[in-house]
Amino acid sequence: MNVVQAPLKIVQYPHPSLRHKAVPLTGIDDNLRHVVFAMLDLMYTHKGLGLAAPQVGLPYQLFVVNFAGDPAQKDAEAVFLNPVILEKEGTQEDDEGCLSFPLLYQKVRRAKVARIEAYNLQGEKISLKASDLPARILQHETDHLHGVLFIDKFGPIGKLSARSMLREFEYLHKRAQSRGELAGDGDIEQRLKDLEAGA
Ligand code: ZN
Repeated sequence: MNVVQAPLKIVQYPHPSLRHKAVPLTGIDDNLRHVVFAMLDLMYTHKGLGLAAPQVGLPYQLFVVNFAGDPAQKDAEAVFLNPVILEKEGTQEDDEGCLSFPLLYQKVRRAKVARIEAYNLQGEKISLKASDLPARILQHETDHLHGVLFIDKFGPIGKLSARSMLREFEYLHKRAQSRGELAGDGDIEQRLKDLEAGA
């Protein structure tokens, strides 16, 4: 992976990185390890259960989780490189949030059980079958790598009640761009394409 220069920070909807399909990682090196540790730090700072690379502006198939949301519980922490969900069973419906949509929570229907295959940071293939909340987290984070967001899964009532918050996020995004605090969407897209080459 290319050296990622600026300190990582979580991007918010509608940052183009969130809709950009991530590319698979082709190797594990110190730069990638550095990114993973920075993502874990950010996830804990923001009290999240998971964080995907597109949420820090990186177009790579990578996410980190802590199923307990507790930095002290290292056995609940995991890193997933190039993950693929191979099986889904049943359904569950519960409130869901996302670090790229602060304060937005809505009911989302997910599979109750999900089996995922991925590589860990040691380059070993891992296979995990999870249910309930951990299965929800794995599905939410894997979606991020394909440019799919939890707002896409809201039912009609959820979509309606989230509409004003989404407009507010869109307004803040444009305002940050007009103030020069954030690059324009075209420049961000170009940077994502440049970063893809470093996967
Ligand atoms: Zn999310």
